[in-house]
Amino acid sequence: MNGAAFFLVVNLFIAICFAMAFAVVSTRTRYRIAALWIAAAFAIASLSALCELLVAYGDATKVWAIGAFATLLGGMILLRIGIGELYGSRINFAFAGAFFAAGIVVDLLIYDLPRGTPLQAFLYQAPFALVILSSAVAVLTSTHRLPIDRALGGLLLLTGLHFFAKAGLAVVVGAGQTAKDYIGTNYALVSQSSTAILIVAVGLMLLSVFVLGIMADERSISEQDPLSGLANRRGFDNGVSATIARSPDGSHAFIFCDLDHFKSINDAHGHEAGDQVIRAFGDLLRLSAPVKSVVGRIGGEEFAIFLPGTSMEVAAMFAHALRSGTEEMKIAGLPNSLSVTASFGVAELVPGARTADAMRDADVALYEAKRAGRNCVREAAREVSSLAAAKPHITRVK
Ligand code: GH3
Ligand code: MG
Ligand code: MG
Repeated sequence: MNGAAFFLVVNLFIAICFAMAFAVVSTRTRYRIAALWIAAAFAIASLSALCELLVAYGDATKVWAIGAFATLLGGMILLRIGIGELYGSRINFAFAGAFFAAGIVVDLLIYDLPRGTPLQAFLYQAPFALVILSSAVAVLTSTHRLPIDRALGGLLLLTGLHFFAKAGLAVVVGAGQTAKDYIGTNYALVSQSSTAILIVAVGLMLLSVFVLGIMADERSISEQDPLSGLANRRGFDNGVSATIARSPDGSHAFIFCDLDHFKSINDAHGHEAGDQVIRAFGDLLRLSAPVKSVVGRIGGEEFAIFLPGTSMEVAAMFAHALRSGTEEMKIAGLPNSLSVTASFGVAELVPGARTADAMRDADVALYEAKRAGRNCVREAAREVSSLAAAKPHITRVK
């Protein structure tokens, strides 16, 4: 077995391995259909290496030569469909089918042309180049703009262009007089080894895109409260830290709130009704809070809002609006006479103060609101959050 044949066998196994890997990934990713298309792409493209080996070592050369071309082009079109699913750039199946058929016709027409002429070499490689370049465009023009997406787009661009480079190389060094001669040429060795490298690079890069997506999804699940759809305690803390990191010199505010006498709602109307109240209150907070704020359900019936770049006055006004909004909440399936109320504690996070202290201030202010009779707002004294050890004194009544 010569070097090119060796690379064909390597390519066959690499493509099969990637087909299996994407089939496995399809069981975990939310882009299941995309992963299945890509698995099919690698499976079909792997047959191309098999066909090339049959061209070299079997009979019916023309059939296997056309088969090698068709399976490689078919695999690339499936890859384009999968990438389109992943990056929101679907292609028309009828157009893909027509392109595939046209590619085969071109391959049949050039089959008997002298090999290694510019026309023959270019027409042979052009369909591959066009499909892969179309995948590159789908990735580079999509709204997914993570570094890994950019890298994949760049790699696909390089892979698409490398087919034109191969055409040039075939013209310069020759690709064998006949299809059967191909395997013994230096061109075949370079062509197959460069394809092996690019298959591995594209396959690994695509796998990374899926794996990073799965990790991001898992992370958002682990940071979300399923009942209210808001961030849970971990999500809230992470969201606050990330927001503060983006504007460390800003002045921010926390609002902590807790439903009043919630236990009696559960006792009187049942746990399911209590859940409905938590959902409705969560919706009220989410829909009322400014876009850049972080809203979380940080305990059973305790919630928190982080308002970046917000003064104490504005945060307190917002808390008052939420308080009256809570009283007016209509909850499906519960008697209209049921009035839900909540208590609110507001604290400021001034530059240089510790986040944990400001959160504790908001919690203490909330406790004061409870002590004052509930259904009201209390503010922690302004200077408190900058004095880590001091106890907040509570100002302003409802
Ligand atoms: P306060 O006004 O002092 O806050 O009184 P409260 O009754 O709201 O507070 P307490 O801490 O005594 O009771 C909270 C109740 O919230 C107890 C718990 O069973 C209930 N709870 C916690 N999580 C959930 C939940 O996910 N669903 C429901 N339905 N109830 C919950
Ligand atoms: Mg409560
Ligand atoms: Mg509570």
